[in-house]
Amino acid sequence: RAKDSGRNTFRFYESGMDQAVATRNLLEIDLRNAIRSSGFTLHYQPIFNLAEGVVRGFEALLRWDHPVRGPISPGEFIPVAEETGLIAQLGAWALNQACREAAAWPGELRVAVNVSAVQFRKAGLEQAVMRALANSGLPARRLELEITESVLMQDSDSVIDCLHRLRAMGVRIALDDFGTGYSSLSYLCRFPFDKIKIDRSFIREIDEPVAAAVVRAVVGLGERLGTTITAEGVETEEQLARIRNKGCTEAQGFLLGRPQSAEATRTLVARQRAA
Ligand code: C2E
Ligand code: MG
Ligand code: MG
Ligand code: MG
Repeated sequence: RAKDSGRNTFRFYESGMDQAVATRNLLEIDLRNAIRSSGFTLHYQPIFNLAEGVVRGFEALLRWDHPVRGPISPGEFIPVAEETGLIAQLGAWALNQACREAAAWPGELRVAVNVSAVQFRKAGLEQAVMRALANSGLPARRLELEITESVLMQDSDSVIDCLHRLRAMGVRIALDDFGTGYSSLSYLCRFPFDKIKIDRSFIREIDEPVAAAVVRAVVGLGERLGTTITAEGVETEEQLARIRNKGCTEAQGFLLGRPQSAEATRTLVARQRAA
């Protein structure tokens, strides 16, 4: 009996796995088509400077409206793009599009683009950045690249060298989702980041002593190192008051502004300009 149920269980998992693999393969085919037929868009979420109360720039976030399934989140398709190597093309597209759209924004508004670890490994990132800047006319100082610890976990000097060269071009480098990796602090010694983005899990719990202490410590680090500290995922007035009180430089989150289309973003920056 035990054997029977064991076999059934096995079959259950096997067919479950088949289905997962099939879904993933379909997604890969659709992803390939969407890249070819420009099926992606970027949405932009505002990032506020807290001291001045003004928008400093926007984070570009990939959006995919799948022809059959409807909107699919980057949390689902980015991993598939990474596994299949399609992230090189998709990432280059995002860089170009973000720089092109941001070049039309007034003043010194910045655009932040997320860069995956695979884009570093597959090389060509530096060239892709240079091309995107040249094609758009966006000054390098208005471009920020957001990388996660997984980029630095690759532990090759070539990654650090690449980051240094990008930074020497004037591009700003931000450490995204800070606090969620394994040995966050060691990475701060390896590269002089322009910005640290505190992961939203800490902001969500900021009314608890431990998370509050972490945020305060990171702000202290930022002050010593001359690094901008951004709080991610600010959803309530109370969280905003707390991160302000702890001295975060910048804030981003649904309370302050949701990711919006390029068109809505253009309207927003024009209205701000006029005010
Ligand atoms: P991320 O870079 O940490 O981006 C922030 C994510 O948090 C976005 O999710 C954003 O919509 C969401 N968010 C912003 N404010 C709030 C808030 O107040 N509450 C909550 N609950 N969420 C908030 P999204 O757009 O689904 O993107 C998820 C992740 O996908 C990004 O995390 C990033 O790692 C990745 N991603 C998005 N676009 C790109 C891209 O162009 N290239 C690469 N390599 N990765 C991307
Ligand atoms: Mg990001
Ligand atoms: Mg983040
Ligand atoms: Mg994230």
